[in-house]
Amino acid sequence: PAKPAGELINSLCATIPDYPQPGISFKDLTPVFADGAALKAVVDALVESFKGQFDAVAGVEARGFLLAAAAAYATGTGVITVRKAGKLPREVVSEDYALEYGTATLELHRTDLAPGSRVLILDDVLATGGTLGAAARLFERCGIHVAGVGVVMELDDLGGRAALTGHNVRSLLRL
Ligand code: AMP
Repeated sequence: PAKPAGELINSLCATIPDYPQPGISFKDLTPVFADGAALKAVVDALVESFKGQFDAVAGVEARGFLLAAAAAYATGTGVITVRKAGKLPREVVSEDYALEYGTATLELHRTDLAPGSRVLILDDVLATGGTLGAAARLFERCGIHVAGVGVVMELDDLGGRAALTGHNVRSLLRL
């Protein structure tokens, strides 16, 4: 039988101490994405958690794009890109947020998804929740319902769920 997603993530994930800064324990999920069975298990588990609840899947630049494209394709829905500042060519909404290491801005094309639609937002790691909190606010400001937030891995100690209060958050592995 296929191994559960959490088990595959745990065995394939690489931990890099003091990257990209001293004190940060970086969780590198590229070996999970590179493994066919693991990628399928992860995408299937995320999609299953929110089955029938979304009309489109959004990915947060850059690793979230990989998950969102696969999840959208698997469910016959569209994919939406939440991007770092200055990358999207048409009218955007912008949200600033604090990172575990630094600050940043996320942007969304104002007209990529119709008001009243339901979006599932995906990313690789939930750390402080700053990134996904900002992504959720972008959609809400456009009148789009955030059906759920899905991540491969959640770093419990960083308390990211507090930044996503009121949202349905699903992580496949909590560390
Ligand atoms: P945060 O906004 O703090 O929840 O950070 C989440 C974003 O930063 C995600 O897009 C992750 O890819 C990345 N990130 C933050 N901290 C880590 C970490 N310790 N290991 C891997 N990725 C991280």
